[in-house]
Amino acid sequence: MIDTDLSPLALAGISGLFGVCVGSFLNVAIYRLPKEGLRVWKPARSFCPGCQRQLEWSENIPVLSWAVQGGRCRGCKGRISVRYPLVELLTAACWAWMGWITPAEQWPMLLVRLMVLSALLVATFVDFDCFEIPDEVSIGGMVVAPLVSFLVPELHAASPIARWVADGAEPGRGAAVVASLCGIAVGGGVLLAVGWIGEKLLGKEAMGLGDVKLLGAAGGFVGGGGALFALVLASMVGAVIGVGNILRLHCELRSRVRRRGARTTSAQSFAIARACGQMLPFGPYLALGTVVVLLYWEAVSTRFWPA
Ligand SMILES: [Zn+2]
Repeated sequence: MIDTDLSPLALAGISGLFGVCVGSFLNVAIYRLPKEGLRVWKPARSFCPGCQRQLEWSENIPVLSWAVQGGRCRGCKGRISVRYPLVELLTAACWAWMGWITPAEQWPMLLVRLMVLSALLVATFVDFDCFEIPDEVSIGGMVVAPLVSFLVPELHAASPIARWVADGAEPGRGAAVVASLCGIAVGGGVLLAVGWIGEKLLGKEAMGLGDVKLLGAAGGFVGGGGALFALVLASMVGAVIGVGNILRLHCELRSRVRRRGARTTSAQSFAIARACGQMLPFGPYLALGTVVVLLYWEAVSTRFWPA
């Protein structure tokens, strides 16, 4: 079905070309999923959010249409965000990267990676926009993960649980499904516990349910250990970016206050820091951690826990 003699470069090129078109579809999903009354497949044709006009095929060519039209709608001349071509290019780059690092004979694994990555891109940008993760991605992922694990049991080849179920042998389909279900329970369960403890300590909601469901879905693909590692990575990256944000806002506030000749109190800075800490979506970091684990977990885990 797929020519397994393809060189990594050829596979990367083909993946990248498909990726740029998929990126165009991801843009539609990112725009429509959080909106009431819009479905990803309905209306089938894309329209301009400004003037509601249906787009011609020539306005739908990924990246190129945006560049040729100078980032404006042909009808109403309204600005089209540069994020549309950027999401298309990012998707193309990620797809090409996955094609490059996945050997052609492991094409079922490549398909899984591309699917998970694309869903996580949607979750990331919707979370940036609306501070929510669409259930289509999180709950959908939890439903699809055991099925995919059944079809592509290699996904859990390094899982200690799958190996235990398979009695030390190469995990089969059943063992992979067990590992997937355990991964969902561990991923969702650990964030649920973190949220519960946070709520007891802070006296307010500490973890969005969307994040709980997203890490549950991630665990279904990368297993329980992978989900925990993705959470650690996400927390580290999120903490660095969060502290950076707080410092930036703190400096901004100080310079603004200094211009007015007043002094900032530490209470003021603290209030601002808290406010921007609360405004930080966690989904994008969970997504990033999951992609890293999806690509490199097997190498890391077999190194530390050789089978
Ligand atoms: Zn328009």
